[in-house]
Amino acid sequence: MNEFDLIKRYFHRDHHGPSVIVGNGDDGAVFQTPDGRQTVVSVDALVAGRHVPSLCPPEGFAARLLGRGLSDLAAMGADPRYFLLSLTLPNFDAAWVDQFSEKLHQLAVQWGVDLIGGDTSKGPLAAHVTVIGEIDAGRALGRSGALAGDQLWLVGRDLGGARAYLEVLEDRADEHAAWAERYWRPEPLLDAGRALVGCAHAVIDISDGLCQDLDHLLSAAAAPLRISLDSATLPLAPGLMDQFDEHQALEFALTGGDDYCLLAAIPVGVAAPHGAVCLGQFEAADDTLILLDDQPLPEDWVLGWDHSR
Ligand code: ADP
Ligand code: MG
Repeated sequence: MNEFDLIKRYFHRDHHGPSVIVGNGDDGAVFQTPDGRQTVVSVDALVAGRHVPSLCPPEGFAARLLGRGLSDLAAMGADPRYFLLSLTLPNFDAAWVDQFSEKLHQLAVQWGVDLIGGDTSKGPLAAHVTVIGEIDAGRALGRSGALAGDQLWLVGRDLGGARAYLEVLEDRADEHAAWAERYWRPEPLLDAGRALVGCAHAVIDISDGLCQDLDHLLSAAAAPLRISLDSATLPLAPGLMDQFDEHQALEFALTGGDDYCLLAAIPVGVAAPHGAVCLGQFEAADDTLILLDDQPLPEDWVLGWDHSR
């Protein structure tokens, strides 16, 4: 199968929403944005051997790719609308691409996005997804804006499961279904993100590790803030404490990454989304600082995933 057959067969869709004037198949896509709305765009890479194992199941590759991309739109409070897919494949293995595209299109329907274009070439397995969302003008949630006195809320299921799954992949822990699901099937918190619009001062999604992403939130604030996290309220992924000691479980939860929960700074008295947990309260400080139960973070912790490492 050549490149053009592959694109046509697996990635072109005849039906697009009414806002798509030109869908895929042309040199560019054209879509109409309604008056009073703004466009939110983000791009993410998924590289085999780097972000996922070199031998990667096609469904998992699709779910991680789109889930991570859409988590950025969730963190902005945006309604997802479209996406573009730039795909590099080692060979045009029809069975792999068939399962990959099937999963991708299924999740696209579930999460409400329309594939309007992309690019396909040969090379080591990797993909970039550009997600495009919409939001009422001036309402997008940003990372800056946290204030002293705001509470830090965690929205999402639980923490540390995706990190624990890396131990399974390295044969250092026993298989656990919940961890595999957290790793291979991240769920972008689109409804929760929308619910935070107008209620949160600042929001970020946890992609690189809670502490590292929290540090981005603190650094983006207008004035230096400190916060002490309450370890007792942290929702740990199921089974973490069965296979790891408490120190290790907390490290995975606080530094592990790939959790795709949302962290939100919400003023006291404003209702947080249903199911969210309060992890602490921001205080004015001379320097940005994160503590755990009023103690410095353990020195042996690497705070989060560094993509240049
Ligand atoms: P061009 O050479 O003009 O860039 P391509 O041959 O790369 O065109 O792509 C043809 C059409 O197919 C374009 O509309 C492009 O957006 C779309 N396309 C290519 N690869 C993908 C893909 N992986 N997913 C979705 N659409 C794709
Ligand atoms: Mg092209």
